[in-house]
Parts: sequence; C-alpha cells; structure tokens
Amino acid sequence: MRLLVVEDEARLARALRRGLTADGFTVDVAPDGVSALTRAREGQYDAVLLDVMLPGLSGYEVVRRLRAENNWVPVMMVSAKDGPYDQADGLDYGADDYLTKPFDYVVLLARLRALLRRQSDPRPPVLSHGDIRLDPATRVVTLAGADVSLSRREYGLLEFFLRHPDRVVTKTELLDRVWDARGVGYEPNTVEVYVGYLRRKLGSGVIETVRGAGYRLAR
Ligand code: CA
Repeated sequence: MRLLVVEDEARLARALRRGLTADGFTVDVAPDGVSALTRAREGQYDAVLLDVMLPGLSGYEVVRRLRAENNWVPVMMVSAKDGPYDQADGLDYGADDYLTKPFDYVVLLARLRALLRRQSDPRPPVLSHGDIRLDPATRVVTLAGADVSLSRREYGLLEFFLRHPDRVVTKTELLDRVWDARGVGYEPNTVEVYVGYLRRKLGSGVIETVRGAGYRLAR
C-alpha cells in the first residue's frame, strides 16, 4: 500500500512517515499543495493524507482539482480546524474522510484502514430525474444535455432532492442535511431562497411546494 502524506509541519511529517512505514505502508511525503498535486497525479497511491492548511495550494484546493480531473484516489483530510463547516467543506470538495488535529496515531491508522477497505467502487452512480442529470463523481449537472452552473449550496440541495425523490422534505430537514445547520440559527426562508434559485435554473416545476409541509421533487 502506497501512501502520500501531505504535511508542511516537518516534525509531524517525519513522525507519520516513521509510524506508517513501521505499519507496512510505503510512504511519500509532500510538504506543500503544489507538490502534493504533482505527486498525486503521477503516483499510483492507495490513499492520500492531506493537511488543509498548506503553503501554496490549500488541501481543499488540492482535492477539488484532483476530483475535477477525475482522480478518485481516496483522500483523508487532516486539519486543526474543527468547526462543523470545515468538516462539511472538506467532504464537499471531495475528500472521503476527515480527521481533526491533534489526532491519536492509532485512530488515524484505524480510519485509514477503514478508508482503504471501502474504496473498492469509489465512483457513485449518476442521479437523474426527467431531463436533469447529476453526476456525484464530477459534480456536473445537466438539463436536457446542457451544463447547468450551480453554487455549492444549490448543488447540495438538488442532490438531496434527487436522493429522496418520493417524499416530502421539510425545511428543517434540508437545513440539517444540506446546510449542516443543527443549532446554527439559519432562517427557514434561506431554504425558500435556494429552492427559488433551483427553480430558476432548472425550471419552475422541478420542485413542488407542499403547503404546510415542505417540498417534493415533482413527479
Ligand atoms: Ca499545515
């Protein structure tokens, strides 16, 4: 198993290399985002441990670019930032797992092994509804074959509707699942605004309002 460890803190990078090598992995280290991208493109890695705060390109940007190039190497983001948004952001950009610094090496190893185990079929199927196609792998959305440009929230909202096609979803549920907003204090009309954006881009009939209950993907 070959790993790419992307870490700009030299001491931590050395410790990770030493530990993971002792546990049987072949380890390359990249100290910044640009060299991480180069190595990940060239090397056949089984997984990448990717720090978020890096000189040059951030870890978010590295994983975003890899996914945009159709590179599906399993990525575990590692960061000292620990707010709910950071974690959601990392996963939004295409990371497969997320670990918060400081971490226990034993935990890292367990999560890494779990990540490697579940990576047999990394490319998820395309979701579709009528003329709409959403490819979770490339995050490309099309309407009748033409690309539709969606913001991250619009994309998240559409994906949620497509994954729950046959039922009414409430605004609270959407705030929890798409905005990851448990207790953060978003107003429910945030959802209304974004449903409006989706209707404008995909057709006014695509999402139905179910009075007093929420929304449903039109049948
Ligand atoms: Ca760092």
